[in-house]
Amino acid sequence: MAGAERRVLMVVHAHPDDESIGTGGILAHYSALGSRTVVVACTLGDCGEISDPAFATPENLADVRSAELASAANILGISRTVHLGYRDSGMDGRPTNDDPRSFHQAPLDEAAGRLVRLVREERPDVIVTYDATGTYGHPDHIKAHRTTVAAFTAAGDWRAYPDTGEPWSPSKLYFTGATRATFTRLAQAMADAGIESPYGRGGGPNLAERIERFAIPDERVTTVVDISPYADMKRAALLAHRTQFGTQSVFARLPPAALRAIWATESFVRVVGPGPRRERDLFEGLA
Ligand SMILES: [Zn+2]
Repeated sequence: MAGAERRVLMVVHAHPDDESIGTGGILAHYSALGSRTVVVACTLGDCGEISDPAFATPENLADVRSAELASAANILGISRTVHLGYRDSGMDGRPTNDDPRSFHQAPLDEAAGRLVRLVREERPDVIVTYDATGTYGHPDHIKAHRTTVAAFTAAGDWRAYPDTGEPWSPSKLYFTGATRATFTRLAQAMADAGIESPYGRGGGPNLAERIERFAIPDERVTTVVDISPYADMKRAALLAHRTQFGTQSVFARLPPAALRAIWATESFVRVVGPGPRRERDLFEGLA
């Protein structure tokens, strides 16, 4: 972890709260080590559900969630949060998927161009986003994946997006996502705490289907970062998104000790860049 204070980590997410769920631990960890940490939120989650009508209305949800993201960033020590400028597309199949202002409808080269501008400005060593499943199939998550993969390559190409700054090639690209073990541990912790599992509810995929469709197979994981010192911070950051995680949410109801066990580590798949087959640091192998 030597030299972390010289490094820049950029994570690209679909909505406010995703930064804390998938990458809250690494953001806290590398921020504490002095790295510059940049969170890109492609949308402000304006189609999200609202846990308590006292917290927000559908009309002001984007503003409220933007403020929640700022609170979470403050807790985690994040250097900068940026909104890529798109509207939430809503869950797959909803009419909001067709809104021309939605991230889902944005032309890929336009979205990638906005991200290229940020990459050239921030010059990250490492970029993290979702894998091709978008972690759970949400159209904005899948679009965040495609946008990031396109921008990762284009940012270093002087012919691409010539008016958006000096070319910069980030060294490493990672995909985040839950492993089978994380899904199973979360389900077990809910059962132990007497919390009804959300898996399979309302006709959604049950736990086994969810693991089959969305979990990262353990053999694909290259990178396991110890985030155990930051598990409570990650929980606090998640709960700062109170429109999403109110007092009845799983993360509010599970005992902090159970979450510490589930969140001892965050796992990633290295897609581009140097490093050993198994590594414990996102910046490993960099000069
Ligand atoms: Zn999301």
